[in-house]
Amino acid sequence: MAGSSTGSIGFIGSMNICDCGKRATMYTSWSLKNSGRRFFTCSEKSELRCEYFQWFDQEVDGRNGDVITHLNNRRIFLEEKIKLLEERIVILEGKVAKKKGKNRAMEKTVMFMKLMTCVFVALFAMLLMVCKTKGSSGWL
Ligand SMILES: [Zn+2]
Repeated sequence: MAGSSTGSIGFIGSMNICDCGKRATMYTSWSLKNSGRRFFTCSEKSELRCEYFQWFDQEVDGRNGDVITHLNNRRIFLEEKIKLLEERIVILEGKVAKKKGKNRAMEKTVMFMKLMTCVFVALFAMLLMVCKTKGSSGWL
């Protein structure tokens, strides 16, 4: 039967028909054993999917298989490291946001202190002027 799952391995774009009678979809496996190996499976959503499964690529073994497994392990390690670093970034961003909040509060306090200093200097200057005026009339 034309377009059946048998005899189509090795031809990209060939028709693989699943048990539902629909064109199967090609995926790439990223499992440790079959990393990068392509396969066909049912294109339906998981709850409606039939059991159809057909490898597209031949199994990789020997040295190439070892290299692919090593690279795949390295990829998994790096993905875990990225995940940890992303979590660390989130924590650090939270700390930075807290520090910014504290800085804003401190800036407000500093502004208030500057304002109060100006008020006290002005009051002191007025007091001096009053004292000087009183002093000229014999008070100081
Ligand atoms: Zn199907």
